[in-house]
Amino acid sequence: MIRLYNSKTLKVEEFKPIQEGHVNMYVCGPTVYNHAHIGNARPMVVFDVLKRLLEAEGYTVTYVSNFTDVDDKIINKAREEGTTEQVIAERYIDAYREVRRLLNTEEPDITPRVTETMDEIIAFIDELVKSGHAYVADGDVYFSVESVPTYGEISHQKLDQLEAGASERVEENTQKKDPYDFALWKKTDMGIKWNSPWGEGRPGWHTECVVMINNNLGEKIDIHGGGMDLKFPHHENEAAQQEALHGNSLANFWIHNAMVNVDGVKMSKSLGNTLWAKDVVQNLGTNLTRWLISSVHYRKELNFSDETIATARKELERVLNPIHQADVKQAMAGAAGTEDFDHAEYRAFLDCLDDDMNTPNAYAVIFETIKKLNGALRQREIDYVTVDMYRNAVEKMLNVLGITVEKPVITEEDKELYAKWNEAKKAKDFASADIYRAKLTERGIL
Ligand SMILES: [Zn+2]
Repeated sequence: MIRLYNSKTLKVEEFKPIQEGHVNMYVCGPTVYNHAHIGNARPMVVFDVLKRLLEAEGYTVTYVSNFTDVDDKIINKAREEGTTEQVIAERYIDAYREVRRLLNTEEPDITPRVTETMDEIIAFIDELVKSGHAYVADGDVYFSVESVPTYGEISHQKLDQLEAGASERVEENTQKKDPYDFALWKKTDMGIKWNSPWGEGRPGWHTECVVMINNNLGEKIDIHGGGMDLKFPHHENEAAQQEALHGNSLANFWIHNAMVNVDGVKMSKSLGNTLWAKDVVQNLGTNLTRWLISSVHYRKELNFSDETIATARKELERVLNPIHQADVKQAMAGAAGTEDFDHAEYRAFLDCLDDDMNTPNAYAVIFETIKKLNGALRQREIDYVTVDMYRNAVEKMLNVLGITVEKPVITEEDKELYAKWNEAKKAKDFASADIYRAKLTERGIL
C-alpha cells in the first residue's frame, strides 16, 4: 500500500487511484526561456522516482508535463536576441529534454505546449467569463477568486487574510476587483499574440495546466505535482478554475517537493550561485547526481555542497563497488549465477518508498543488502547463487531510483591477467602481484 503526503489535506494518506491499476499524473513543467538549474532537476527526479515506484508496485502510469512556451520572459528574451519566441522556446525545450536524458528520467508520455493548446485555453476562459467566474476589464480577463468558496484549499490560506495582507501593498493593477484576482488573458501589443473574444493578447500562466489536464487526462487526476514554490498562487489558481467550471477538485493528491540550496543558501540570480543541471550531471555523472538528490526526503530541503557531494560519492561507491566485485569474481570463476533476487530485501526497500517515498530509509535497506553481499563475497568458497540474489536485489532497488548498474565486459586477456595476479599473490611474489594489480585497475577490472 502506497501512502503519500497530500498538501491539500496536510496528511499522509493511503493512495488509491481513481481507475483501478492506473495512475494519471501531471507535473507542472518549465517556462522555456533559460536552461534548467539544479532546482528544476529535483522535481524531474522526484516524480520520475514516483513513477518508477508506481510501476514497480504494478500500476500503469500516464505522465503528463507541459512546456510553458508563452510568457513575458520568453518574449523579452526574443526581443533581446532579435529573434522569435518560437526560436527561444525550441532552444530551451531541447535543452530541457537533454537534461532529462542526462538524468536518466523517462520522457513524460505527453508534453503539451501552450502554443498548441491555444484554442482550448481561449474556450476555457470564455466559459469562465460566461459563467460569471471571470470578468473582462479593458481587454484583460481576470478570474474572480471570491467566486470560488474553496479558494485557499491547496495552500491553506484564507482569502480574507490574504486580502488584508495585500491591501497594505500598492496595487499596480487597478483593474482588478480583488488583489488576488489573477489574469486569465492579457491584452498586449508586444510580442507573440492571438485573437480572442476580448481582443489580441495572450493567456496568463495559470490556465494552461488546467486545460492540459482536462484535455489529456480528464477532469480529475490522481496526482498533481510540482515544486513547493508552485503551491501558491499557481496550484491554488489552477484548482480554483476547475472548481469554478467543473465543480470538482482537480487532483486527489497534491504533491510538492522542497527546494534546493547551494552551500546552504537559496539559489538566486543576484547571488550568482546558480548550478545548471547540465553542468552538474556532466561533472558528477548521472548515478551520483540521482543518488544525491534522492538521499534527502523529497519534502526536506536539499543542499548541494562539496561536502554533500563527497558523502554521496562515498555512499554510492559503497554500493556499486561490491556489485562490480561480484560481477568480476563471477565472470572470472565462470559461474552461472541466477537471475533471481532476494525478494524479502527488495520488498523491504519498496515498503520504505511506499511510505511517502522515504528514500533515506530505502537507502538503509540498500546498505543492509550490500552488507549481506559483502559477507557472501568474503566466503572462502563463494556461493554465486547467494551472491547473485543480493546483487540482483540491489540492482532492482537502484533501478527504481533511476540508477543503472553496468556489467563489466571481461575479455580473455583480462581473465589471464586476473589468474596471474592470483598466482603471484599465492606465491607471495608481491612485486609481480602489484604489476598485475595495476594493469587490472587500469582496465577497470579492479
Ligand atoms: Zn501548472
